[in-house]
Amino acid sequence: MASPASSSVGHRRRVLMFPLPFQGHITPMLQLAGALHARGGGGRLDITVFHAAFNAPPDQARHPPGYRFVAVGEGVPSGDLVPSGSDADFAGALLRINDRLREPFRDRLRQLLAEEEDGGAAACLVVDSNLRGMQLVAEELGVPTLVLRTGGAACLVAYMAFPALCDKGLLPPASQDKAQSEMPLDELTPLRLRDMVFSPITTHANMKRCLEHLLDAARCSSGVILNTFQELENSDLQKITDGLGVPIYTIGPLHKISSGTESSLLAQDQTCLKWLDKQEADSVLYVSLGSLASMDEKEMLETAWGLANSQRPFLWVIRHNMVKSSQQVSLPEGFEEATRGRGMVVPWAPQLEVLGHRAIGGFWTHNGWNSTLESICEGVPMICRPQFADQMINMRYVEEVWKIGFELEGELERGKIEMAITKLLCMEEGRQMRQRAKDLRDKAVKCTEEKGSSKSAIELLLKRIMSF
Ligand code: UDP
Repeated sequence: MASPASSSVGHRRRVLMFPLPFQGHITPMLQLAGALHARGGGGRLDITVFHAAFNAPPDQARHPPGYRFVAVGEGVPSGDLVPSGSDADFAGALLRINDRLREPFRDRLRQLLAEEEDGGAAACLVVDSNLRGMQLVAEELGVPTLVLRTGGAACLVAYMAFPALCDKGLLPPASQDKAQSEMPLDELTPLRLRDMVFSPITTHANMKRCLEHLLDAARCSSGVILNTFQELENSDLQKITDGLGVPIYTIGPLHKISSGTESSLLAQDQTCLKWLDKQEADSVLYVSLGSLASMDEKEMLETAWGLANSQRPFLWVIRHNMVKSSQQVSLPEGFEEATRGRGMVVPWAPQLEVLGHRAIGGFWTHNGWNSTLESICEGVPMICRPQFADQMINMRYVEEVWKIGFELEGELERGKIEMAITKLLCMEEGRQMRQRAKDLRDKAVKCTEEKGSSKSAIELLLKRIMSF
């Protein structure tokens, strides 16, 4: 059942964790684990990570003593549990994950609690905000819970407003009514009605259920932990504090507080860092859609020629399953020749190091929250191409609130791509966005310093955990 990195329990406290089994959720949960483990005052806090048997966190043995990993749901069919691309039923996948892992988790947790009766008692379970099913199991077995919200504060505020928008009859938007879906939401500026829809294929009923579960998880917890920082999302954080009625711990950017590199599900191609060393400062466009977003073959073709025609250096992540309905991804004929010496393609990159490299001048991103936050923390402006879930919300903040990027909207077309790259990397507008991004980066650094807002919130969180 378990792969113990340490069996010492003694009188130590143990924090249980259960991430959602996707890259963008596993990484921040393990970063949080690292932060708690390191600051647990002389190693008083051990960590047990429960995880879905599919998409298990890699390199478990590399974690320091005190970590233990427990697989849940071996043999559970997982083919329909991993959503991919804008046409994915993300909400449906979340509901199925909760349904299928709940019973196996009850068995595992019961077993673990029985084993640990002699010491190292579980202080609490830190559960992903999308795993209400696991939270209910913990409640049933008497384990207090904290909820980790891996998205931004703005997104949580939007989700908190979702039920009221349904009551007003605004959601779901009438599918034929384009003007209605463009409608600005006054109480959620700068969001529009269409930014509130997970994906074209997710049914309203599934999305509503998912968000009910998410808000129940937050409200029934002993506190909500957010991977963002005060100086970035101050007013939305205040709305969350006022609206949820539980303690809020704002402790991000987690990747600046604790390392999570060993959490990458795919092997990172490190050779691109050497290639970046040879490029000029602020000259390279980094292109990546994260771990789940995808494009079709035509979009792939337009992207390739947009990058080639831009004449700018680029580093492009083409994930093995990034192109819809293609088993094997192939670059268009003539592309390599046209971009020789100026472009590099990798299957998966060490993204934190890439974004932190002085050669990177811009990031073409799908605006997953981790990618958005990582870009902000390195002062890198963005070309935004959101696809589903919270990505549209993150994009709106990048474009309209922080003004550190802009959306590449509508059909992907090589001429449009070329213009967007030129705007970001070569024009005054792009330079100003880079400057604003660097200002935000400096604020992020401050909040992770001693006495900074996030460092102080971690101390409060630790106190809370030790009080259970
Ligand atoms: N990532 C990476 N290498 C890549 C692309 C992405 O390590 O080539 C990491 C990235 O640093 C981020 C995570 O994968 O931490 C993606 O999370 P995000 O929330 O941005 O998007 P998701 O994959 O959940 O859609």
